[in-house]
Amino acid sequence: MLKKQIIMFGAPGAGKGTQAKILAGKLNVPHISTGDILRNAVAQKTELGLKAKEIMEKGELVPDEIMVGIVKNVLFSDSCKEGYILDGFPRTLNQAKLLDEIIEQLNNGYPVIIKLLVDDEVIIQRLSMRRVCKVCGTIVNLNQIENPNKCPNCGAENSFVKRDDDKEEVIRRRLRVYHETTQPVLEYYKNKTEIIVVDGAQPVDNVTENILKKLDHSAG
Ligand code: AMP
Repeated sequence: MLKKQIIMFGAPGAGKGTQAKILAGKLNVPHISTGDILRNAVAQKTELGLKAKEIMEKGELVPDEIMVGIVKNVLFSDSCKEGYILDGFPRTLNQAKLLDEIIEQLNNGYPVIIKLLVDDEVIIQRLSMRRVCKVCGTIVNLNQIENPNKCPNCGAENSFVKRDDDKEEVIRRRLRVYHETTQPVLEYYKNKTEIIVVDGAQPVDNVTENILKKLDHSAG
């Protein structure tokens, strides 16, 4: 059986969200995107959203204690009993260590890491063309869909919106934060669990196929 406790790792724009959504459907476990949780909180103007908004707009990181509280709540919910796909968490060494405590309490196996590799310049190009369908949440690249005014998933017209943090100067800031703070977290996992590395610059279907092949291999 394929491993169902998964952490998606990689730079912003590497395709973590896209792949996490697909894998969640195939493995029948929830996709937990801390970025999506925060964006919902911002849209609903909750206390969390009010705190997170400015930080996110600058491309910086929301404090660890807030993030760990959010993730703990979700991971302990019934929906995660069979597994989970974490997308966007952990992003700091401290988050990784606190996540270890949660994993130990859950007593449900240690997650495997899927690392998507993509060059920074490709990411900058990708993110400037990235849009999200405001009706169904599908993430698209305007260069890669037939009709840039129609969602290929739900068919909605003129439903694409650009994320506030997908502006070039914010993208560069987010990439810097990734290289300085998040990438070192991978070192922490090297002796703890399997890290599956996949070329994230390939077309979406190929990336999924490669992930599933390697997951299958790791399970066997
Ligand atoms: P994402 O959608 O994963 O790119 O996240 C968007 C933004 O949400 C990030 O640039 C951060 O400001 C914030 N964020 C998401 N996840 C975390 C996290 N684990 N730790 C701190 N900030 C986060």
